Amino acid sequence: MVGGRPAESVLTNSGRRQRPSQTEAEAAVRTLIEWAGDDPDREGLIGTPERVVRAYEEFFAGYNEDPVALLETTFEETAAYDEMIVLRDIRLESHCEHHIVPILGKAHVGYLPTGRVVGISKLARLVEVFAKRLQIQEVLTAQIADTIQEVLNPRGVGVVIEAAHQCMTTRGVRKPGVSMVTSRLLGSFRNDPATRREFLAMIGSPRSGSNGI
Ligand SMILES: [Zn+2]
Repeated sequence: MVGGRPAESVLTNSGRRQRPSQTEAEAAVRTLIEWAGDDPDREGLIGTPERVVRAYEEFFAGYNEDPVALLETTFEETAAYDEMIVLRDIRLESHCEHHIVPILGKAHVGYLPTGRVVGISKLARLVEVFAKRLQIQEVLTAQIADTIQEVLNPRGVGVVIEAAHQCMTTRGVRKPGVSMVTSRLLGSFRNDPATRREFLAMIGSPRSGSNGI
């Protein structure tokens, strides 16, 4: 069963590596099914390795995309718009790198442009490119903010992520209803209390004005 994604190399968070073939990936899933205690040859499971591998292509599509290139198309005719731009409640679906189970939540992204602005859908896509990788929430938050800072060079950037980790809710300590909040504030979002307050108010943070996340 060869097909789908070819065995090319892939740029991971830690460098370029050779990607195993689809057949090898399916064999690994089959091993996990057997290890869990089931029979990978029974009718209900016969197509599962192939389906899991296809699902992984979606879950981890972010390794195939360049986040910097994504932000490089900018608009300069912005009528000198220099107020804060915020995209809030961006649906976030990622996978924790420790257990490969879902991290589900939302991201809020804001920046203060200096002449160059990026299409608003690009900010949502940027979140997706980093989310569709194996992640921890702290790194995900920092990668999104740092990429915007590096490519657009705005006066400031703010990224806040609120998410529930299924490795905490469905296994381990089993604490449903707990969400984790992380933030990365750069430039004026970090140094100027008024800008920070404005951002936190715009994203509807219940902590705005108190401990400032
Ligand atoms: Zn985990």
